Amino acid sequence: MIIRAKVVVTMDGPPIENGAVAISGERIVDVGRFSDVAKKHSGEEVVDLGEQALLPGLINAHCHLDYTCLRGKIPRQKSFTDWIRAINAEKARLSPKDYVASINDGFAEAKRFGTTTMANLTAFPELVSRIEAPIRTWWFAELIDLRDPSRANEIVDFAVEQLKSQKQWGLAPHAPFTASADLYRRCQEIAQRENLLLTTHLAESREETSMFRNATGELYDFLKEIGRDMSDCGGRTPVERITGGNRPYLLVHMNDLSQTDFELLNKSTTKSSIVHCPRSHAYFGHSPFQFQKLQELGFNICLGTDSLASNEDLSLFAELRTFRQKFPNVSSEQILELVTVNPARALEQNNALGKIRTGFLADLIALPITTSTSAFEEIVACDRPVSWSMFSGRILA
Ligand SMILES: [Zn+2]
Repeated sequence: MIIRAKVVVTMDGPPIENGAVAISGERIVDVGRFSDVAKKHSGEEVVDLGEQALLPGLINAHCHLDYTCLRGKIPRQKSFTDWIRAINAEKARLSPKDYVASINDGFAEAKRFGTTTMANLTAFPELVSRIEAPIRTWWFAELIDLRDPSRANEIVDFAVEQLKSQKQWGLAPHAPFTASADLYRRCQEIAQRENLLLTTHLAESREETSMFRNATGELYDFLKEIGRDMSDCGGRTPVERITGGNRPYLLVHMNDLSQTDFELLNKSTTKSSIVHCPRSHAYFGHSPFQFQKLQELGFNICLGTDSLASNEDLSLFAELRTFRQKFPNVSSEQILELVTVNPARALEQNNALGKIRTGFLADLIALPITTSTSAFEEIVACDRPVSWSMFSGRILA
């Protein structure tokens, strides 16, 4: 099959005007100017997308589909800690059936907005076998042991049992304020043994920093009250708290960083990937995200939507638009890399996803465009569902 479009935005060199992509099975077998591709693959069915840009399917590097049903349920709170209280109250009302419905609805919505790959955290790994993901999904078990750190190994091992038959999965110790040092250690051990990806929330809020540095603040008081062992608080930043272990983490948020954190990050030999969630960031009013500085240090920066408990929808295009408003000096091409090339690298798929290139998986999307020379700008400004998409070589309805 040959797909022709006004412009093919490969993310692997300049956009190709009047371009085409040849597909065989689940893979891309050729890409170039339409005239060349059509000649080389004569006799193949041609799907002409007309006045559209064809680009790689988008990759959401951080999401919690468990909470799709919480859209609009939690108004902005006075503090991050109040938000945790509010989401806990909402969660207490939900059943496993609600979570399954929530995850399925989330997939459908993400797909409509051109997402073809997702790093999804779930607090319920036991529900995953009941779900058929319609897009490429890395299932990360979100792990918390704050009420009973003596059960750290047991909690991790249970999640491993639930997820190990999945094609793509990993472990997500939730955050240093909810997951013990033992839990992080166990995740490291298993990730190394099974060659798994790891992700964790880190340095998200000022309250988290205050808890670990000064053993004070709202989050400190709240967690102490619910019985967390607070003996690891005082004198260290959250970033200092999770160093150790050989497997890198896909680090989510990294908003509240001190000078010593930057020095530590500068010295670290494994440059992790960092996920920024622009609209969730704005919802909480976190400290400004240091995009330039982190990029200069060599971190691979990606975007995610986070959950609908702190966001409006699962459109990565909306994240691109918000990011552009905050960082007007970053080029549209570079912004599009944050949801294509960079997250593909973060998921160790830089030889299969994130670009339109021969041999890569045929996950493609298209949207209307007026001028091919402004393709990147028009894509980043897109504010509606995609008009066409292909997943693993199959055209989606
Ligand atoms: Zn998150």
